[in-house]
Amino acid sequence: MTRDGHGDPIPIPCHWVRTAGDEEIMIPGCYGTVVAGPHACTCDVPPSRIERAQALIREMHTHHDRLRERLTTLRVDLNDALAELRAATTERDALRRRLGMIESAHVGSPPTRPTVGGGGKKP
Ligand SMILES: [Zn+2]
Repeated sequence: MTRDGHGDPIPIPCHWVRTAGDEEIMIPGCYGTVVAGPHACTCDVPPSRIERAQALIREMHTHHDRLRERLTTLRVDLNDALAELRAATTERDALRRRLGMIESAHVGSPPTRPTVGGGGKKP
């Protein structure tokens, strides 16, 4: 153990040690780690490689959940847009049928003069 100039022991903060099996274990240096584990460390030790990976996984799950919610919203918007498109197509087809009936009713009848705005060249 290292001692300071007065002979008092210098506390060693918690630190990570990699084992031969490539695991990381925290050597406790504070009561928080001793009592409750690495998450309760008060030494301000950076997280281990495994803890960083676990935090990244949690972050990715959160991102995935947000993307899933966005996808649900986009599906609803798409279904609404498709319903509007179907309604517009139905209305267009009805108007085309009506126009066809009007045009066929006027086949052979003399052309009518425009009643509003003229629109044609004057002779
Ligand atoms: Zn600690």
